[in-house]
This record gives sequence, structure tokens and C-alpha cells, in this order.
Amino acid sequence: MTNKSHIMKKVIFYLFILMFLLPTPTFAWWNNTHGALAEKVCMDFNCSCVLNMTEWANIPDAVFKNMINHHDYNLSDSCPTSSEWKCPTKNDFKASKKMNEYLKSASIKTGCDRWKDIAIASHYFFDTKVFWHNVQNENYFKCHKAFEEKVNDIFVSGRIGWTECACGVCVSYDEFELWVLEFEEKIDFEDKLRDVSLFDESKDSGIIQLILNFI
Ligand SMILES: [Zn+2]
Repeated sequence: MTNKSHIMKKVIFYLFILMFLLPTPTFAWWNNTHGALAEKVCMDFNCSCVLNMTEWANIPDAVFKNMINHHDYNLSDSCPTSSEWKCPTKNDFKASKKMNEYLKSASIKTGCDRWKDIAIASHYFFDTKVFWHNVQNENYFKCHKAFEEKVNDIFVSGRIGWTECACGVCVSYDEFELWVLEFEEKIDFEDKLRDVSLFDESKDSGIIQLILNFI
């Protein structure tokens, strides 16, 4: 009996260790991207809810799961023909409409309630900027998922000045900076105070800093 419980304890111990070694599931590969963008917006406006912004910015994917609303089809956007995707045949601005809905709701709220809605609005806004949310019938795993994973990995690493491509479609760090500015201009009911860098090293290395403090 004692032997058995000793083995059980060992099994539980190794399972516990394994939990930390296994890679985290790639359920939402954009969560770091959406989070970093929303945090920058919050910091530029000196909002006091920066620690919640990543969670809130991912509400549409993690809670609403209303993926039908995460695309914008705009016939006036150039759309190269390819065997990897289909260009939309009619205008449909579902994500933009959701963004406007949440910005409007944010404008009549205050404090962190306001910033929760801004974070949600930012999710829809930045989704409209993803090429793969502007086309249809794309090769999901090869193009869409690969693209979002690559970008998300870069956001985790905090690198700047990059360009990443998948299936011939590229996105650059500079574009993200411009998109943040474009989104911030829509928040006309708050005063923007500064322009922090998208990747703030002191913030990204928070955990590393914490470890260094103990060494
Ligand atoms: Zn989304």
C-alpha cells in the first residue's frame, strides 16, 4: 500500500513537470498580437487597465467565438488572383461594423469599462487588416494559420523592423505601427498622451527582470 502510494506520488510529480514542458496549445495564435496592440493603445492614452488589455482584446476569439464577424470584404481593395484564395464578390464589412459598435459603446462608458470595449473594438479593427480576413476560401493551414502563427511568434519575441510572408502575402512591422495610429485616431473621446514603442523592452522582459532581481 505504501509502495503503491509512493508510485502514485511519483506519477503525479512527473505529470506535474510534464505540464510545464508541453507546448501551449495554439488555440488562438493571434492572442499575443492582439494583446500587444491593445496594450500599446492603452499606454498611449495612459489608461489604467493595461494589465487587462490582452485578455479583453481576445474576447471576440475566446468568448464570443463569432468568427463570422471577423472579416471585412471590400471590393475597392486590390485583390490579386491566386489558387490559394478567392477574392470576395460583394462588400461585407462585418468586422468594421463590430468595431464601430464597441467604440460607440466605449464612448458612453468610463474607466476600465470603457477600455474593455476599446480592447474588443481593437480586435475587430486589427482583424480587418489581415489579408486572410479579406479573402475567402483560402488555404487555411498553409496560408492563413501559418501567417498568423509567424506574426504571433514575432510579437512574442518583440523583434522590430521585420517582414513576414505566407503564400506570397507579406506584412511588416511598419504596417502594424501605422495601423495602431489609424485605430487610435478613431478614439476621439479620449486624449492621446504619447506614442510608446510597439515593443517595449522593459515591459516584455518583465518576467526576466523579476528573475534577474533574484539572482
Ligand atoms: Zn479575430
